[in-house]
Amino acid sequence: MCGIVGYVGNKNAVNSIMSGLKSLEYRGYDSAGIAYYDKEFKIIKAEGKLNNLEKKINGLNSNIGIGHTRWATHGKPTVENAHPHKVGKFTIVHNGIIENYDSLRKLLVSDGYTFKSETDTEVVAALLDKFYSEKADILKVISEARKLLIGSYAFGILCDDYKDSLFALRKDSPLIVGIGENENFIASDVPAILKYTNKYILIDEGEIVEISNKVKIYDEYFNIKEKEILTFDGDLESAEKGGYEHFMLKEIHEEPNVFKNSTIPFLKFGLESLLSRDFSKYTSIDIVGCGSAYHAGLVGKSLIESYGMRVNVYVASEYRYQKLFTNKNSLVILISQSGETADTLACLRKVKEKGIDTLGIVNVVGSSIAREADSTIYIKAGPEISVATTKAYFAQVAILGLLALNIGYSREELSENQLEEILKKYSTFPEIIEQVINYEYSEISNSIYNYETCFFIGRLIDYSLCLEGCLKLKEISYINSIAYPAGELKHGTISLIEDDIPVFAVVTDKTIADKTISNIKEVKARGAKVILIITEDLDDDFDFTDYKIVIPNVNKILNPLLVTIPLQIISYEVAKLRKCDIDKPKNLAKSVTVE
Ligand code: GLU
Repeated sequence: MCGIVGYVGNKNAVNSIMSGLKSLEYRGYDSAGIAYYDKEFKIIKAEGKLNNLEKKINGLNSNIGIGHTRWATHGKPTVENAHPHKVGKFTIVHNGIIENYDSLRKLLVSDGYTFKSETDTEVVAALLDKFYSEKADILKVISEARKLLIGSYAFGILCDDYKDSLFALRKDSPLIVGIGENENFIASDVPAILKYTNKYILIDEGEIVEISNKVKIYDEYFNIKEKEILTFDGDLESAEKGGYEHFMLKEIHEEPNVFKNSTIPFLKFGLESLLSRDFSKYTSIDIVGCGSAYHAGLVGKSLIESYGMRVNVYVASEYRYQKLFTNKNSLVILISQSGETADTLACLRKVKEKGIDTLGIVNVVGSSIAREADSTIYIKAGPEISVATTKAYFAQVAILGLLALNIGYSREELSENQLEEILKKYSTFPEIIEQVINYEYSEISNSIYNYETCFFIGRLIDYSLCLEGCLKLKEISYINSIAYPAGELKHGTISLIEDDIPVFAVVTDKTIADKTISNIKEVKARGAKVILIITEDLDDDFDFTDYKIVIPNVNKILNPLLVTIPLQIISYEVAKLRKCDIDKPKNLAKSVTVE
């Protein structure tokens, strides 16, 4: 999310920063800004795309500066909230989230600071200024401020007393230093510097960077550290993909981190933050979405209904035209990655007109659904470039799992002990995600890629997971895939099963596993090639599988996420074997803003 570029050197900083920011556009952003030196540090900012900023900076010249593309997390994507932020002597840009900004802000307000923006970032600028006014030792000031910050960050920092130096530090957000000829850079990622240099240094947590005509990296005791200078050999496009061949694969590999980002806000203050929503007044929920968001809703339905609340899930393009059966005790949840999906937005407006409560589950901050829904949960998946969603769907399911727990507890269907038992698994779950991502799937992908038909079967929640696996394969590999509730197959569609036809079968729901297994045997008896995805507690020495993927049995809320991974990776590998344009499948758009 977001991009940072900083420059000190003998050329025009403004031009280098703008070109660096452009090559970070793939990371996603909603506003941008730059600080440069002209007798003092000055700031120019603009909403929206970089060309809006470009129009305002024509003809500027400076040898030092910092630039930023913002992906709003705290406050709307407005000019006031765009970075850089200047307080007193400090001008800063920031990528990440300061979780304790509110308490720091209160302290600073009591010290007389006032704030122009809603951001967590401006608070850090004020904190630096306050410490500096007490003791003008910049390295110590940065280090003292860092000790107080909880959250993730990469900062670029300018101080009025240092006209030729730029400072930087990071934790959990990316930052590199670029080393050029008579010029040095800081940047969120290698693409930003590649036009000027392919030499760079990776910054570790705990270090403070100072770039001027030299590069100095200090350790926590302010000693200068020797750091290895790396050389990037690839081209710009491969740099943007972080070494992965496609954005889709990169985004799948981001899922462990996405899980952390999306669930942490609900878990960090214990049960209180998880149970912050009051669902007691609702007697039913409608979930509305399109494509994968609709499928995420179906998974959410199973999870929420297991705690006794009735849920109906609708495709947005249907819901917007059908009769509503909602009342004052209904909640309508709208799921959309972009927050701009036209049909979903229309549904939101339709139910709001009737005075029904609405909750948006979206990725893009400040998007229309986020602004118009009564309340919004951000899934915090970060920008998703690949048209076929992976990590955003993953985060939607993760959020729906937490909502199910919130609802289950408030309906007294789930005791505190049971809830805590489930939540215990959250901290180690990213490692389990990683483990399943690293399973070997290529043998399966190789055995199915040249078929033109493929089936997915499962029951209840397993069927909902099949629907998404089926869509993934269909949309990027163009294989005609069909998902069916396992028990329904014999009412017609089983006539399509013939020798060797690949059938994915998902079995994770203990309550119905035996029934699904009987259905799998039925297709096997008709010659199907069975690829079974099963949780380890239900696994047995089956004689009807051609391939078997056994996933860890964590709990009913988290297991669905693990099923998603093989289905995404196999779709990816199959599309690659079929030489399809994986990140941009034909006829599809990332954000569907037309009806
Ligand atoms: N949390 C900061 C803000 O909302 C930085 C967001 C970003 O990473 O772009 O302004």
